[in-house]
Amino acid sequence: MKNQMRIFFDAVSENEAFARLVAAGFFAQLNPTLAEITDVKTAVSEAVTNAIIHGYEGKGGTVELFCAYDENRLQIEVADRGIGIPNIAQAMEPLYTSKPELERSGMGFTIMETFMDKMRVESIPHFGTRVYMEK
Ligand code: ATP
Ligand code: MG
Repeated sequence: MKNQMRIFFDAVSENEAFARLVAAGFFAQLNPTLAEITDVKTAVSEAVTNAIIHGYEGKGGTVELFCAYDENRLQIEVADRGIGIPNIAQAMEPLYTSKPELERSGMGFTIMETFMDKMRVESIPHFGTRVYMEK
């Protein structure tokens, strides 16, 4: 990768906007189109929201955001050290949510997959979750 950055921030909802602005600001150096910036912001937002409300169940913790790019692609990782995902395949199904009572729609992973070219999830129960995305 030609350029990369990594930040750690508190798992509180006001940092969702902060994280997507940081990612947008970092990738702005690539002269992306407005559509590309919107895609990245949406994907980062979904992943960070998941870390906060699912990974840490709203109880707080630390979220990691990694961004990198070279001539051909950009890479994003969002990680938490929260509860983890017991069944990743099920979690990635459109409309699956473990928190219907919070009025989640179960579309976060589907949105990340749609807005980015590649997405992969690694998770270990009680250890945490890391989402890898590429564009
Ligand atoms: P929406 O994103 O539409 O508000 P959602 O967050 O439930 O709803 P997804 O983002 O697709 O939907 O996530 C699906 C499910 O995967 C979640 O309901 C949750 O059970 C699990 N999940 C996602 N991210 C994490 C995470 N970081 N830690 C633990 N569980 C997660
Ligand atoms: Mg979600």
